[in-house]
Amino acid sequence: MTSASSVSDPATTAPTDARLAARAAHPQGTVVDVRGVAVGGEAIVVMAGPCAVESREELLATATAVGRSGARILRGGAFKPRTSPYSFQGLREAGLLHLAAARAETGLPIVTEVMDARQLDAVSACADLLQIGSRNMQNYTLLEEVGRSRIPVLLKRGMSATLDEFLHAAEYVLKGGNPNVILCERGIRTFETSTRSTLDLNAVPMLKRLTHLPVIVDPSHGTGHAWMVPRMAAAAIAAGADGLIVEVHSDPENAWCDGAQSLTLDEFDQMMATVARVATAIGWR
Ligand code: PEP
Ligand code: MN
Repeated sequence: MTSASSVSDPATTAPTDARLAARAAHPQGTVVDVRGVAVGGEAIVVMAGPCAVESREELLATATAVGRSGARILRGGAFKPRTSPYSFQGLREAGLLHLAAARAETGLPIVTEVMDARQLDAVSACADLLQIGSRNMQNYTLLEEVGRSRIPVLLKRGMSATLDEFLHAAEYVLKGGNPNVILCERGIRTFETSTRSTLDLNAVPMLKRLTHLPVIVDPSHGTGHAWMVPRMAAAAIAAGADGLIVEVHSDPENAWCDGAQSLTLDEFDQMMATVARVATAIGWR
C-alpha cells in the first residue's frame, strides 16, 4: 500500500484497507467525548464497575465507591454474553434502568454492552458508550448499526483477532458515520492456560502507532485473576494506554459473574493510586 491514509507499517505485513482508522487520517489523535469525559485526551480515563448489573443496591454501592476513587465512567453489563446458556444472562431492560439510576446518583457516564442490533434502541436509551464485546467484534451487521448511531462505541478486540482485523472492525463503525470509536485490548487466546487470556500489551503501542483512535486496556478479562489486575493495569498505562476498564464489585466472592477477576472496592482504590504514580513516573502525556 502506498496511500498516505493506509495503516500499512513496516511492522505489519498484511495489506490493509482501514483507511479511516489509520493514524494518517488524524495524525494528532482522536479524542472521544463520552458525556463530557474526554477519552484519548490529556488524562487517563478509568472505567469501572461490576461485570454484570445484579441489583440497584450493589450497583450503587460500587458506583459510588469507584467514583470516589477516581473512576470517570461506570461499567456494568445488562445484556451478558455467557458461554453457557444456563448461566445468568443479565437483568436486561431492568439492568438498564439500574444503570440510569446509578448515573443520576453519581453523575458517572455509563458504558454497557449491546449484543445484538435488536437491542440497540433499548441500550441506546441508557448508554453513553456502547460496548461491542469480543464475541461480536466481527458481527458486521451490528458494527454497521452502531456506525449509524452518534453514541460513542467501545470496541473490544476479538479473542482471536489480529490487530489488522481489529482495525477493520473499527473501520465498519467509522465508515457508517460514527467517528467516536475507542479500542479495547482485552486479551487474546493462546496456548497458555494459567490465565483466562493472554493480555497482549504489545497491542497498545502498535495500535497507538497504526491508528488515531484511543486505546484502553481491560486487565480483568485479560488475566482472569483479581490479584493480577493492579499490576497489569499499571503495565498497560506504562505501555501508553489512554485508559482502563476494570471489573469491581462490592462483594466479589458472591458476584454472579466474573467474581474471581473482580477487585474489591479497597483494592480498586489502591490500584488507582498505583496507576497515578506510574503515569507520573513515565511522564504520561
Ligand atoms: C465484559 O466486558 O463484560 C465482557 C463480556 O468482555 P469481553 O467481551 O471482552 O469478553
Ligand atoms: Mn466480565
